[in-house]
Amino acid sequence: MIVVGGGATGVGVAIDAASRGYDVLLVEQSDFGKGTSSRSTKLAHGGVRYLEQGNIGLVMEALKERGLLLQNAPHLVHDLRFVVPNYDWWETPFYGLGLKLYQLLAGKYGFGTSRILSKEETLAHLPTLKTEGLRGGAVYYDGQFDDARLLIHMVATAFEHGAILLNYVKVTELTKDAQGFVDGVNAHDVETGGEFRASAKVVINATGAFSDLLRLKAEPNAEKIIAPSQGIHLVFDLSFLQGDSAIMVPHTADGRVLFAIPWHGHTLVGTTDTPIASATLEPVAMEQEIEFILATAGQYLTKAPRRDDVLSVFAGIRPLVGTAGASSGVSSTASLSRDHVINIDRSGLVTICGGKWTTYRHMAEDCVDQAATLAQLPESPCVTHHLHIHGYCAAAMEGAAKELSSLAVYGSDAGEIRKLIENDPALGQPLHSALPYVKAEVVWAVRREMARTIEDTLARRTRALFLNARVALAMAPAVADLMALEFGWDNLTREKQLSAFREVASNYILHPSRNLPGR
Ligand SMILES: Cc1cc2nc3c(=O)[nH]c(=O)nc-3n(C[C@H](O)[C@H](O)[C@H](O)COP(=O)(O)OP(=O)(O)OC[C@H]3O[C@@H](n4cnc5c(N)ncnc54)[C@H](O)[C@@H]3O)c2cc1C
Repeated sequence: MIVVGGGATGVGVAIDAASRGYDVLLVEQSDFGKGTSSRSTKLAHGGVRYLEQGNIGLVMEALKERGLLLQNAPHLVHDLRFVVPNYDWWETPFYGLGLKLYQLLAGKYGFGTSRILSKEETLAHLPTLKTEGLRGGAVYYDGQFDDARLLIHMVATAFEHGAILLNYVKVTELTKDAQGFVDGVNAHDVETGGEFRASAKVVINATGAFSDLLRLKAEPNAEKIIAPSQGIHLVFDLSFLQGDSAIMVPHTADGRVLFAIPWHGHTLVGTTDTPIASATLEPVAMEQEIEFILATAGQYLTKAPRRDDVLSVFAGIRPLVGTAGASSGVSSTASLSRDHVINIDRSGLVTICGGKWTTYRHMAEDCVDQAATLAQLPESPCVTHHLHIHGYCAAAMEGAAKELSSLAVYGSDAGEIRKLIENDPALGQPLHSALPYVKAEVVWAVRREMARTIEDTLARRTRALFLNARVALAMAPAVADLMALEFGWDNLTREKQLSAFREVASNYILHPSRNLPGR
């Protein structure tokens, strides 16, 4: 099988197929997770909102997958307490009941008991919540994870089961046999400029928001199925959200859910749901999205966040599946289904899109079942229900991973990174005092995690760019020095790398005084 796209969906498919014993090649045009999969809210969740929409099937599927994810990657997924603050009399019984149902639907995969909170209890969990008009709250539990870190460990898992995964290789054309069935790809090596062809019994299109582009290469008359929708997040320091819980606002002015979540020692607030005409690889937050999140967060937090409090802003694109030709003329994507879709074109190209990060494993199982049937491969059952993700560390289940401090996200690899530091104590130095990352993580990213650029290291091997863009910029020269040593970059390459990173990083910085139209 050839899988096109190295996000959660594609890498999930590669793991599923390789662990069944199929031969798999995955190609990603940029870095693994460069698309939407590093830009999510980072919740392994059933989706309380879909419960309200009556999509019980999706909620139950996602709750089960949330539970399996915790079992298979306990070093990266943990439970988190969410509080829904109530300011109207009807909200407490309404959300109390709904969240009880949410807990019950999880069955044996439950994360914790939902219950109603008094005003005092609500404030004990969320001391920085606005008290004016507050009546109480409702508490429930969901999962939280680090999306790009999980993806990198999924890439390693796929390798360990025999798949070959390449970043910086773009599929430019699909090749067809004499009957017109897709039988391979032409691909372009983005680093060397080289071209090559690879053939397969089946090609799987897991290109997320870009899915229609590849479908049109297979069938120029194919109807579009993707309705891309942009969502942004703002990152602040932890003082905005003190306490031990996240806030979930079930109904914002535009009918969406808004979260304020503690993440890696910062506060993550999002998200929006803005229909856009087409997807880009480095989407940029729009002014109205930024203003909306600042205003909504200000309604709930004692310290209303301002533009100059924003440490980082990032945008991602949901690959939602709409009706035919959906991307044109859609005014709201908030109500479009988050179910996944598997589409098989007449040419035999298998497209898997939609869904959620949380449900990637189930999506992959469905997709490989269908692809294997289509390609008439020998039957082989899915084995991913209890397949450990690379870095799996049983101690993390008992919370012992906290002892590994900031290296905890590496799971069983943390010991290897510590060995690097033992051998060369200079690698134990922090890259910046504002973030916990040390130099050894850069060396590890290059040697073991296929980081190729400064951006790969600062955005997706560490999360520096997403946590604090200015600090990430300050870290970049030291990262460039370390990567130059590892790769043997000359000075020109080092400078090119730095300037490419500065350009990308400028999208994550919110300039307080500049009002950029159309941003
Ligand atoms: C704002 C936001 C918040 C979200 N929050 C959550 C959440 O909290 N929990 C949750 O479960 N889900 C969440 N989601 C949904 C989830 O992030 C996505 O469903 C998931 O990441 C999609 O993954 P993907 O692999 O399909 O797409 P992507 O991650 O975009 O991957 C597709 C990849 O294909 C590559 N590609 C494209 N064309 C080519 C080509 N020609 N050759 C090679 N490679 C190519 C791209 O470079 C890209 O990396 C959120 C989404 C958004 C936008």
